Amino acid sequence: MRGVIEELEREGLVGVKDGKLVFTEDGRKRAEKIVRLHRLAERLLSDILGFKDVEEHACRFEHLIDDEVEEAICTLLGHPQVCPHGRTIPAGNCCIVKETEVERVIYRLSELSQGDERD
Ligand SMILES: [Zn+2]
Ligand SMILES: [Zn+2]
Repeated sequence: MRGVIEELEREGLVGVKDGKLVFTEDGRKRAEKIVRLHRLAERLLSDILGFKDVEEHACRFEHLIDDEVEEAICTLLGHPQVCPHGRTIPAGNCCIVKETEVERVIYRLSELSQGDERD
């Protein structure tokens, strides 16, 4: 554990404030990003791929997601705000600008009225 903290300190992700270990701005962002990728992976696995038990898969999947893929997944999913467990997904850049470059291609059935056509 000691070594891990030292490494985080060296990378400027944590610092000591009033004798307590705290995240720096960079560290907080990094931690948020990890949480975001994990929860986006969970949503993708459950909403699109139909997995019931997403936890384990999400843990491995999140490491394959780079920035570009992250935004594409987020946009595809319609910028979800919570994971399948109801926990908050930290907003990414794409959620703030709500990019329309990658068109949302998945629609929930309830969003499609009968005879609705999309091209
Ligand atoms: Zn979750
Ligand atoms: Zn987004």
